[in-house]
Amino acid sequence: MPSSAATTDVDRPDVDVRVVDAVVIGAGFAGLYMNRRLRDEMGMTVQVFEAGDDVGGTWYWNRYPGARCDSESYIYCYSFDKDLMQEWEWSGKYPEQPEILRYLNHVADRFDLRRNIAFQTRVTAAHYDERTDRWDVETDQGDKVSAKFVVTAVGCLSSGQIPNIPGRDTFRGDSYHTGAWPHDGVDFTGKRVGVIGTGSSGVQSIPVIASQAGHTYVFQRTPQYAVPARHGTVDKAFLDNVKKNYDDLYEQARWSLGGQPYTLKDRSALSVSDEERQAIYEAAWQEGGFKFILSTFNDIGADRRANDTASEFIRAKIREMVKDPEVAEKLVPVDHPFTSKRALIDTNYFDTYNRNNVTLVDIRHAPIQEITPAGIRTEDGEYELDIIVFATGFDAMTGTFNRIDIQGRDGEKLKEKWAHGPQTYLGVATAGFPNLFMITGPGSPSVLSNMPVSIEQHVEWISGVIEHMREHDLDVIEADAGAERDWVAHVNDIAEQTMFMLADSWYLGANIPGKPRVFMPYPGGVGPYRQKCNEVAEAGYVGFTLSADQTAGAASSAS
Ligand code: NAP
Repeated sequence: MPSSAATTDVDRPDVDVRVVDAVVIGAGFAGLYMNRRLRDEMGMTVQVFEAGDDVGGTWYWNRYPGARCDSESYIYCYSFDKDLMQEWEWSGKYPEQPEILRYLNHVADRFDLRRNIAFQTRVTAAHYDERTDRWDVETDQGDKVSAKFVVTAVGCLSSGQIPNIPGRDTFRGDSYHTGAWPHDGVDFTGKRVGVIGTGSSGVQSIPVIASQAGHTYVFQRTPQYAVPARHGTVDKAFLDNVKKNYDDLYEQARWSLGGQPYTLKDRSALSVSDEERQAIYEAAWQEGGFKFILSTFNDIGADRRANDTASEFIRAKIREMVKDPEVAEKLVPVDHPFTSKRALIDTNYFDTYNRNNVTLVDIRHAPIQEITPAGIRTEDGEYELDIIVFATGFDAMTGTFNRIDIQGRDGEKLKEKWAHGPQTYLGVATAGFPNLFMITGPGSPSVLSNMPVSIEQHVEWISGVIEHMREHDLDVIEADAGAERDWVAHVNDIAEQTMFMLADSWYLGANIPGKPRVFMPYPGGVGPYRQKCNEVAEAGYVGFTLSADQTAGAASSAS
């Protein structure tokens, strides 16, 4: 029963416990929309907790130079409100971090979403109480909240990872992680800057840092494939046309492979002549962005020989772009196929190595030994630095869950349940943790897709379940262990048929020492995934057990 009145927990008479229908953790893309749905459209009492001091999630924290999204602007936004879609004007082909943050602030203002968000507040614990069928949620600010539902909107890449390099704390200069960038920016003018990491964050920030710094040293462990973004202003006529066709474009994205409204060409890279293949790759290269993967051939990500043609095309481009052949060879990836790690979309990345104030340091062959007070020492010697930028990524998908003490039935800890890899049903729920929903959790397309499309699908699906429970007087929903096992096996089966298993990537947890090597996102595509979720709902939430409240007395004392 919805209620927000303060009450007192029966076992802790000295502690004021606020009672709400739902706690939402996080106020990025996912948390904001979940709040809107549950609070405004379903009339529930909702408490959102957010660690940052404002909305934005990923886009609040990742303010490094050059930060922008690889999905095109017009499709990297919400589709739940048609007026919002029509009124917002994106300025560039790809949305840059400040603009995405402005957009999310606009959404928060427009729908008055801030009033039930507690900022600068981290959820520290969420324990399921079987006597009341409710969650007891606690924060680092001393909040205690009893909630019927908990929805995690914590993002997939929100726990930054700084490698434990010997001497890390002895460095006399300044150091920053790309995912926790100072709000006032960093002045690189005239500085000797070392950047460790050449993933998406490194590849985006390195060209901008190099254009400002005195000298930039890039410490590269694994060379990367990257496709040019061809970023620029966005054509007004193009955007006008998008706005006229928004419904169709979004519908296409919802049923696509990657959540983008691109038409997948139903042809193999091996079905055309060499000349035709080169021409197709070249056209996509000139156009830029994810179309190189999503609308050239249908088997780059699945067939090794088809993949080789794309990998080889990019290798040739790198050799063409980088003038010094020795440097070029160090930048050419040979140890993993294209798309086995997250595909990179770049702006001037390879050109940057033609600058005379940029040095590529190959730490695959001469590894970093230590960080010293003066800089970074590799097996080849010491590089003196004023600033170190850690573009070293995240404890992806499970890291943020592990930082919260989440306990389900019988006090089972989620961290322990997931010790050998995350186990979920549909990436949205996990057995033994009733009434806990995860937006873009492990086992869902999430990071392999255009996130707003996947976020909206999850938010709407979760709202649908809760609506269903209300209509049928049901209080508790829990994923079945068998359905979960089958889902995890299915995710792994599909992953085995892809390039994803052929690299050490964060998708597999390989970037975190000791993390189990398990493929975490669902690689079957957002369209097939949506279909499966719809079928589950239409069949009465098959794979879940739904029940009425067995604890009427205890629950009513808390609601
Ligand atoms: P990342 O892809 O995990 O890249 C981390 C980089 O740091 C890699 O080059 C890695 O080398 C290196 N590294 C990690 N530990 C190291 C160590 N101990 N010594 C030396 N090098 C080390 O992280 P990210 O670049 O922050 O990107 C993470 C994800 O966030 C992306 O894949 C993407 O999904 C998302 N993202 C998206 C955008 C966008 O849309 N434009 C921008 C930024 C981030 P190895 O490859 O050898 O492990």
